[in-house]
Amino acid sequence: MSKIIDGKKISLEIKEELKEKVSKMKVKPTLVVISVGDNPASSVYVKQKEKCANYIGINYKHIHYDSISDDLLINEINKLNNDDKITGIIVQLPLPNKMDEIKIVNSIIPSKDVDGLTYLNAGLLLNNKTSLVSCTPKGIMELLKRENIKLEGSNVVVIGRSILVGKPMMNLLINANATVTLCHSKTKDLEKITKKADILIVAIGKNRFIKRDMVKRGSIIIDVGINRIDGKLYGDVDFDDVYKKVKKITPVPGGVGPMTVVMLMKNVCDAYETKN
Ligand code: NAP
Repeated sequence: MSKIIDGKKISLEIKEELKEKVSKMKVKPTLVVISVGDNPASSVYVKQKEKCANYIGINYKHIHYDSISDDLLINEINKLNNDDKITGIIVQLPLPNKMDEIKIVNSIIPSKDVDGLTYLNAGLLLNNKTSLVSCTPKGIMELLKRENIKLEGSNVVVIGRSILVGKPMMNLLINANATVTLCHSKTKDLEKITKKADILIVAIGKNRFIKRDMVKRGSIIIDVGINRIDGKLYGDVDFDDVYKKVKKITPVPGGVGPMTVVMLMKNVCDAYETKN
């Protein structure tokens, strides 16, 4: 059995499932992606989303502003909130520095917040209630499920406490009855903690930071990191160094990344189904 958790393959399976689901919808869901300014990485992500939405049959609309004030953008988001034809809205992050990201993201009506970042959706997740959940952690849960990795009672260590990845990841795992330790840059003796992890999830943005000495033999490693070095992508885990020691591992690229985009589409479908 392969040690590699093939996120690309699993994401393709989910894409097909969603395509089939959308083909049965009389009116197709519509996703609106809003971007502001000039961020090359964001442009790549926006294009990936468009391609994925088109494949599945979700209507896709990209609204781009070279620059816009917070108030005007919130006004535009309100129009989309009130437009019955729009199923999901995302604001591509990061926004230019001077903009108030939290205020802008929270102006999206929670029922259309397909990035799962509004306070209400984050709070629902905290309370183990059905909600739209941040796409990367949602994708990781799906990977673990499809790989039949048992969470109940497992010791899971998450490194990274961002709103986008680490914190929702922790809540999803707790809701699935795992025992979770959340680490960050101020954590002492990180290695002591990571070595006890049955499942180690790393989202820190530090090129090949996790080495063999930091992982438990036979553990499952989920590498969220994306670090571009000389045009090549690397994870937060030193894949070659840990490979022999672990039971299963996600590669970078081809692990968590492809799941994130497809989970956005899953959230659009979920938002559509909740409404209809
Ligand atoms: P972020 O907002 O920058 O958060 C990084 C987290 O890592 C912080 O909580 C930080 O701790 C912690 N950290 C940094 N250095 C550390 C260290 N040496 N030891 C322990 N903890 C450390 O990042 P993010 O948005 O969560 O993203 C993390 C990585 O995942 C990035 O490489 C990003 O590109 C990637 N990512 C990938 C996907 C995907 O689809 N594959 C999606 C999202 C993000 P403090 O809180 O103490 O500062």
